[in-house]
This record gives sequence, structure tokens and C-alpha cells, in this order.
Amino acid sequence: MWLHRINLNGKDVRRCVVMPLTDSVSTLPGVGPKRVEALASLGITDIESLLTYFPFRYEDLRAKALTEIADQEQVTLKGIVAAPPTLSRFGRKKSRLNFRLLIDQDVVPVTFFNQPWLKNQIEVEAPIMVYGRFDAAKKQLNGMKILSSGRDDPMASVYPANAGIRQKTIQQLVVAAWEQYHDDIVNVVPASIQQHYRLLDRAKMVHDMHFPKTTPDAQAARRSAKFEEFFLFQMQLQLLKRHDQTQVGQALPYDNAALQALIASLPYELTNAQKRVVNEICADLKRPIHMNRLLQGDVGSGKTVVSAIVMYAAITAGYQAALMAPTEILAEQHANNLQQLFADLPVNIVLLTGSTKPAARKEILPRLASGEVNLIVGTHALFQEGVDYHRLGLVVVDEQHRFGVAQRQALRQKGANPDVLAMTATPIPRTLAITSYGEMDISIIDELPAGRKPITTRWIKNAQIDAAIQFVMRELAAGHQAYVVTPLIEESEAVDMKNAQAIYERFSQYFAPQYQVGLLHGRMKNDEKDAIMSDFKAKKFQVMVATTVIEVGVDVKDATVMLIYDADHFGLAQLHQLRGRVGRSDQQSYCILVADPKNKTGVARMKVMTETNDGFVISQKDLELRGSGDVLGKKQSGMPDFKVGDPVADITMLSVAQQEAKRITDAADWSIQPENLGLANYMEHQEASTYMYD
Ligand code: ADP
Ligand code: MG
Repeated sequence: MWLHRINLNGKDVRRCVVMPLTDSVSTLPGVGPKRVEALASLGITDIESLLTYFPFRYEDLRAKALTEIADQEQVTLKGIVAAPPTLSRFGRKKSRLNFRLLIDQDVVPVTFFNQPWLKNQIEVEAPIMVYGRFDAAKKQLNGMKILSSGRDDPMASVYPANAGIRQKTIQQLVVAAWEQYHDDIVNVVPASIQQHYRLLDRAKMVHDMHFPKTTPDAQAARRSAKFEEFFLFQMQLQLLKRHDQTQVGQALPYDNAALQALIASLPYELTNAQKRVVNEICADLKRPIHMNRLLQGDVGSGKTVVSAIVMYAAITAGYQAALMAPTEILAEQHANNLQQLFADLPVNIVLLTGSTKPAARKEILPRLASGEVNLIVGTHALFQEGVDYHRLGLVVVDEQHRFGVAQRQALRQKGANPDVLAMTATPIPRTLAITSYGEMDISIIDELPAGRKPITTRWIKNAQIDAAIQFVMRELAAGHQAYVVTPLIEESEAVDMKNAQAIYERFSQYFAPQYQVGLLHGRMKNDEKDAIMSDFKAKKFQVMVATTVIEVGVDVKDATVMLIYDADHFGLAQLHQLRGRVGRSDQQSYCILVADPKNKTGVARMKVMTETNDGFVISQKDLELRGSGDVLGKKQSGMPDFKVGDPVADITMLSVAQQEAKRITDAADWSIQPENLGLANYMEHQEASTYMYD
């Protein structure tokens, strides 16, 4: 019954197999190369993606009673064509089309100007729906369009469209795709799950998403669509995870005694959370499977030392380890710290970044290839062409969300499938982490080192800024340093920079001659930025005025104040990251948020910041106040842009979908079980990258 037409040597062959709707949209009438391109801009490429391009709302076309309509209101009227239409033409372009519409007992004259072709759609005594502007005094309609002739279709789907393709075109193509392909729509959610959760058949779901008769129909369809979307996403994550697990990785038989000695030599005791995650990671290292683990921990929770310990483990097992940071200055900072930590141990560290001089690079590469260098720290330069490893066992990616797809892929291709530890300081609420990083194993450091003084956070209004600046002055007098983050004007880097420049000049004057001020903004080249950060760290100046580019983990121990302008324009997670730039030592640090929020949510968000220093609490609150997309940022989170589901509002359904996907993929032979045939086919034809976390 599931016939899929394929073209073999020019012959139309019908094969009796279950296939997803992989035909290109160009098979539809009227879809040429231009339209293919326009559709692609909406993510529509094949029939499957067109049929799952769901409307985001429906126009209720049920006609209003005449008495309910205000003068000049745009409405839909439904009635019967009472008499034949008359068409009068004036000159070449102008025309007027008149007909009478019978609505219950009323007769409403309808006029269309300059659309003579509509005449053919108006059939005497046929039901019709007309959209237009109503003249209440004269009780007549100035017609704009005919919505349907004959067919009773009270809900019109409204799709996200763009400049390249019109709403109407999408509607027509969906109808065409439905008519041509609806027999090919096969269930992908296994029947037992479908029954258990009372979900619609896929064909019925697709139909009712696009062409619902009633609101409850549309709601039922949406529920099924959401489940399917979450479920397919979870299937993909589970399969990815299983793929990783079955891939043969290297077992790294590390020297436990050496590891213990390193840990004992640290100037502090590891927190319990650090000990726990070190154990989790080490257990992975020992096993001959491929590790793909995410290490989450708030700013300052001590991820770096954890990574150092496990990299050392890899080295004692005779392997090389690599640490990749998103910026040169961070790479340099890591290299320096590791150099100190491993000073008395047989670890040969080198730093390799984009600005490593060719001569130095030439000297490093052979030592890396021979295995003499066993720990390399750098930026993505670590995984460029020409950088070869001897025996790469472990790759640590710091601030992993800063890296793009290409970089992470390059990384995976080096070495014999090295274990990967990705670290992130973006706190993601646990439920969300589990679902968005479902294909990775997760370790969480949920505890800060003891004795850390919590950062004191104050929220002030713009009018109180002078007091804040005086406060900064006092801190500077105590030998400390300060960050000033300048206003964020959404969507314009140019304006951001102008603001930063203005504040930089103001502060320079204000603090002169005792204190110097530096400026950092996004338009600067990387090496310029790095140079300025290094100068700040070296205390060549005391106040750093910056746009948000200082977000990532640079350690300036004497920086004790973070002053943030327009704090209500930032996401909470981002504010938290910014705040984490201070409080990097045992000195009391402060964060001052300057904001005049315009609404209750804004006030609530400022309060959250003053009340807690816990990144997980903050991200949870942010989630509640704003929704997941904003908290995580699409790229950062790896949370895909769901079309119908909302991972926050529908978190229960998302978890259920995860459980079901897990349960299915737990059976090694899931894909050959009859019930899963549709699903297995679907997964096989999915582009692997659709839902990858990057
Ligand atoms: P992050 O998780 O933000 O990368 P870091 O690894 O930079 O945090 O650690 C922040 C600071 O805390 C560093 O100066 C580090 O030396 C220190 N630190 C790490 N672990 C501990 C600990 N268990 N006790 C005390 N200080 C620690
Ligand atoms: Mg860090």
C-alpha cells in the first residue's frame, strides 16, 4: 500500500517499500529553480519538509453575523451567491465586478474593483466566502479576495513566509503536495506508542495541521505533531549516542598513583563535586569506548584543574592530550597555569595559536608528531591542516559553545578517535541539559570551592550612577581594578561601539591622572583584543571599558568591580557570565547593575541577579521568565529550533519522548522489528546533521 515512485532508467517504477517523502519540491507543478531556492530559504527542500512546514496560526474564517461587524472592519462573509455577477469595464485597466450575497435573510451587495478574473469563481447559488471591507451604513462589502468557492473551509492556515515567497504560494504548494503525496505518508511513531499516548495517524496529523475543520481538530493535530517532533529529535540523539558508544575508542590505562600524587600536590583540596567528576571522567578513559562528555560547571567552579588532572591521566597512559580554547589569550592563560602545575612532572607543554610565529611552529610540529610534546594547548589552530599527532588520546574543549561545527568536526578527525571532554560554563537547567545534550554524557560541578566570598550584587537606577562611579574610585584606590560594560543596543554593533567609545572618553577624563582606562570592543582584531586583555592583567591600566566581548573566562585576580550599564538588555545567563569575571580571588568583589527596567519582568530579572550567585538557579529563572530559545541562544545550546514543540512549556512531553526513544533504541534489533519499520526508514533517510547539537 505504500507506493513510492522512483524513476529507474527513465521508467516509472513503483516499489512496494516504505519510504520517506524524499522527492524534491521541484516535482510539484509550478516549482522551478527560483522557487526551489525561495523554498530552501524557509528550510523546505523535499516533500517531507513541505508537509511538515506547519502553519503557526489559523485565521478563523467563520463568518460573523452582520450586526456584529463594525464600520470599515475587514471581515469574511459567508453566504450564497444570489444572482449572476455583472462585470463593467472602464477603459483598459479598470473594472467593477458586482454580485449579491445572500446571508440568511440579508442580501449584501459585493463589489470587486479591477479583479475581473474573479467572475469565473462566482457561481449562482453556490456557497462562497468573501473577504473585504464592510460598509456598515450601506450594508455592503468592498471585496478584496475570494477565500473559497464552494468548499466549506472555516480555518485558513497561516504560514511563516518571507520576502522570497508569498503566503498564498505556500498554501497552494501544501495543497498540491498533500494531493499528490498523502498516500505516501507513513507512520513513524510506532503503533504501540501512538496508541498509548492517543496520537493521530501521521497522515491525519499532517492533514489536520494544514486543513483543520475545527479548533479542537487543530489542537489534537498539534499535540501529535509536537510528540512526533520531540520523539524524532530524541531518536536522533539516542542513535548518535549509541553510535559513539559502539565506536571503538582507546582504553587509556592511566597511572593512578601518579594521579593521586598530582592531586595531593595541589595547593587546595578538591571539592567533592570536582572529585566526583574526575572519577566519572577517569572511568570513561579506562574503558575502550569513545568518550563524549560534557563538563558543566558554573564560572569559578574549578573546571580547569579537573581538565588538567584528566589530561595528566592520559599522559601517564602514554598518550597526548590537547586543550582547545576559544581565544588566544585564554589559551595562553591555560598554558601558563598548566606550566606551573606540571612544573616538576614529565609533561612537555607547548602553546600553538594563530599567532605562533612560523619558525616556532616549524619547530613544534615535528615534536608533536613524534610524541615528544605530550600536552598541547591552543586555539582551533590545533586542528588545522599540517598539525599531526603521535598518539592523541584526549581532547578537552574549553567553553565549548564558542566553537562551530567545522572546528569540532576537524577535531574528531584527528587521532584514532580521541576521547572528548567539552567544558561549558553556561549553566543549563538539568532537564534542559539532559534533553539538549542527550547524546553526550554529562558531568556537573555543582559546588564552588570553599571560602569563596560571594560577589555582592547591587541594582541601581541610572540616576544613581555618580555614587557607583565614586564606589569604583574607592576600589581603585585600594589597588583594585574594574570592568565597565557599556550599553548594549540590540542589533547594532556600530552603535555599541560608539557608546563604548563615549563612556571610555568620559571615564578617562574622570579618572585622570591617577588611573588609566582601556577600551575593548567587538570590532577589534583578535590580537588587538588579546593585547589589551594582557595589559589589563598586567595592571597597565585599572579600568577596562568594554562591550560584551570580555565574557569568556579570562582571570584578572585584582578585578573586584563589574559595572554593567543597561543591565536589563542582557540575558540573565550573560549577566552571570559577565559577573563571573570578578570574584576570582579571596578579595570581596562587587557587581553593579545599572538599569531602569520598563516592565515587571525586567524588575524581576534584576532581583534574581541580586539574590543569587548560583548559575543554575539563574538559568532556571531565566527560563521561566523568557523561554528556552533566549536563555540558551540557538547556537550555544544545541537545542534545535523546534517547529511546533516548546521544550520549556512541553518539557513533560519532551521527557516522555526521550524515555520512549531510549526504550526503543535499547533493543539492538529495534530497526528490524516490524512495528518500527516506518521509524527505521525515516531515521535512515534523515540527514544526520539535522539535530546535531552544534
Ligand atoms: P572555571 O570553572 O570558571 O574555569 P577555574 O578553573 O578557572 O574555574 O577556577 C577558578 C579558580 O578557582 C582558579 O583560580 C583555581 O585555581 C581555583 N580553584 C579550583 N579548584 C579549587 C578548589 N577545590 N579549592 C580552591 N580553589 C580552587
Ligand atoms: Mg574556565
